[in-house]
Amino acid sequence: METIKKISRLKEIIDASKNIVFLGGAGVSTESGIPDFRSPDGLYNQPYKFSPEKILSHNFFFNQPKIFYEYYLEKIININPIPNYGHSYLADLERKGKLKAVVTQNIDGLHYDAGSINVIELHGNIHHNHCVKCGKYFDLDYLKKFTGTVRCDDCNGLVKPDVVLYGEQLDENTLSKAIEAIESSDLLIIGGTSLNVYPAAGLIRYANKILLINLTRTSKDIYCDYVYYGKFGETCKELQEL
Ligand code: NAD
Repeated sequence: METIKKISRLKEIIDASKNIVFLGGAGVSTESGIPDFRSPDGLYNQPYKFSPEKILSHNFFFNQPKIFYEYYLEKIININPIPNYGHSYLADLERKGKLKAVVTQNIDGLHYDAGSINVIELHGNIHHNHCVKCGKYFDLDYLKKFTGTVRCDDCNGLVKPDVVLYGEQLDENTLSKAIEAIESSDLLIIGGTSLNVYPAAGLIRYANKILLINLTRTSKDIYCDYVYYGKFGETCKELQEL
C-alpha cells in the first residue's frame, strides 16, 4: 500500500487510468451539508431516542411510521443539499470518457444532480416513493409537504421511500451491475465511506486496483493499492485545479 501525500501523485494515478469506477458513501455528501453516520458530527453521534440503524429499518418503518418520518424528513430530506466539488469532478471524469460508473451507497441523488449519467445507486434514491397499498408514485416534493407520516392522497396508504432500509435486501440486478463495472475497471476509486456496511463494502474484492480517498482510516485500507487521507470534495477541487 502506498500512502499518497501529494496531489500531483494522485493526479498521475488517475491520469494513467482509462476505465475508472467510483465507489462512494456518505462522506462524499458531508461537504454538501448531509451528515454521515460515523463521523463525530454524524447521525450516530447526534443524541436521539433511537439509533439511525433502528429508525431506518424495515420493521421500524412499518411499526412506527410517524417517528420514522419525523426523523427521515428532518435529518435527510429537508436539508435541500446541492452537489459539491466531489460530485462535479466525478461527473466531469465521466464526460471525458475516463470514468465508466459511479457506484454509490448514498440515497441523496446528488451524483445525478451534478451531471453523472451512469450512477448505480445500491441503496435506492430519496426522489422515488410509492404507496405500499395502491402503488401510486410520489416524488420528493410530495414528501416535503408532510411533517410526520406520509400517506397516499388516493387511498390513504402508507408511502414508502424507494430506499433500501436496514433489514431489506439490495436489488440483485443493481448489485450485479456494480460488480460487472468494478470487475472491468482498471482503477476503483473509493471515497467517503467507512466500508462498514455490507454488501457494499464487499464489492472491493472485485477490484483490480484500488485508490482510497477518505478523511479517516478504514478497516480496509490494507487492501488498497493507494491511500490518500483528505476531504473528498476539497481533494477533487485541488485535482481539478492542478
Ligand atoms: P459512514 O458514516 O459509515 O462513513 C463515512 C466515512 O466517510 C467515514 O470514514 C468518514 O471519515 C468519511 N468522511 C466523512 N466526511 C468526509 C469527507 N468530506 N471526505 C472524505 N471522507 C469523509 O458512511 P457509509 O460508509 O457511507 O455508510 C453509511 C450508510 O448510511 C450507507 O449505507 C449510506 O447509504 C447511508 N447514508 C447515506 C447518506 C446520504 O445519502 N448522503 C447519509 C448518511 C448515511
